[in-house]
Amino acid sequence: MEQKIPYKIYLSEDELPKQWYNVRADMKTKPAPLLNPGTGKPVTLEELSQIFCTELAKQELNNDDAYIDIPQEIQNFYKMYRPSPLTRAYFLEKALGTPAKIYYKFEGNNTSGSHKLNSSIAQAYYARQQGLKGVTTETGAGQWGTALAMACSYFGLDCKVFMVKCSYEQKPFRREVMRTYGADVTPSPSDTTEVGRKILEEFPGTSGSLGCAISEAVECAVSHEGYRYVLGSVLSQVLLHQSIIGLESMAACDKYGIKPDIIIGCAGGGSNLGGLISPFMGRKLRGEADYQFIAVEPASCPSLTRGKYAYDFCDTGKVCPLAKMYTLGSGFIPSPNHAGGLRYHGMSSVLSELYHEGLMEARSVEQTAVFAAAQQFARIEGTLPAPESSHAIRVAIDEALKCKETGEEKTILFGLTGTGYFDMTAYQKFNDGVMSDYIPTDEDLAKGFAGLPEVK
Ligand SMILES: *Cc1c(COP(=O)(O)O)cnc(C)c1O
Repeated sequence: MEQKIPYKIYLSEDELPKQWYNVRADMKTKPAPLLNPGTGKPVTLEELSQIFCTELAKQELNNDDAYIDIPQEIQNFYKMYRPSPLTRAYFLEKALGTPAKIYYKFEGNNTSGSHKLNSSIAQAYYARQQGLKGVTTETGAGQWGTALAMACSYFGLDCKVFMVKCSYEQKPFRREVMRTYGADVTPSPSDTTEVGRKILEEFPGTSGSLGCAISEAVECAVSHEGYRYVLGSVLSQVLLHQSIIGLESMAACDKYGIKPDIIIGCAGGGSNLGGLISPFMGRKLRGEADYQFIAVEPASCPSLTRGKYAYDFCDTGKVCPLAKMYTLGSGFIPSPNHAGGLRYHGMSSVLSELYHEGLMEARSVEQTAVFAAAQQFARIEGTLPAPESSHAIRVAIDEALKCKETGEEKTILFGLTGTGYFDMTAYQKFNDGVMSDYIPTDEDLAKGFAGLPEVK
């Protein structure tokens, strides 16, 4: 007889993963290396160690070790909010009338409200191990900055956050959460860095962008003794730390004999999706099992579905290494009505390569459809989802409705990356019926592509 699946599947403390999984080890074609923008050559450990902590730079360049030990102190911290529950969406299945079985892995169970704490705690740990004074970073809406502020306060590190100016002004609550955890928050562009002053001079009154805040944070790190820069997504080291999501999901599924057919995640820079799918992808790459993987991105910022697979700058100031990825160009900025997050111009090199090889699919969805799914999910399953997460919910519902038509009993797993309490201005637009969709034209996109660097 089939085992009864509980609403919430938890792992016990001793079932928690003790190692992260590095999917690059099982990839036949490795993601393209980061390049030094000055020389055009692959970055060395020494060069990378000037920007990142040495141990993190090693992880960034490690394409070979499939498993990397999670230091005990990080395992202990994880126990504060992990394992995160894998939930069977019985209510949603019933409401949709679908024969599909739907599961979601919920990462919003901590004060930062998202999966980002999984990597920030690891990055802060290695910074402290190295004896650093502090770290610098950028944040858009503030989820990453919050997660980093929490991690730094735990390890007694100084935390300098450059927050995109329009968010700094419009989203004071996340800013105050960061300050409560002791972080120093500066609106970007600012006059505290050279690149910030240059951008302010060129574009007076600009409301800022992620790419610009990254440039300021990197400059601040390299110009202050004892500081390094940290990043909350896109990088391979971040996907490595986020593999905790997939490893826990896989352990919970295996425990109950659940075999997902479709695994869905929202994709900004690719860290939660990469983390969720990594161990399953490993099985697929080793020929042990097959799964359908779907990355979901906003139609207004469509890096996978409409971007180019090319080397590009990771930041507006062009100070970071070049990464080969699906990209809209580092100058791309989503239209002002875009409300749902996931606004970075590029995608993780690991996911880009997997997508390029046809091992993963991608879909883009419009924001009004995303918020309709968010509202439906909130009403049926109880949790008010982050707009980012709701991209995955949209496609999970669409796939479940397809099963209703065909009668297929597929098993769907999706990542519910966080809660949406700080995104109520976007919900308000949706509730007032004034949210609109904008899909960039080919002409709009051409402007971003024109800024791609020439790489031989
Ligand atoms: C940051 C964030 C994302 C997108 O980032 P990825 O690196 O693509 O995972 C998704 N959901 C939430 C709740 C976030 O805070």
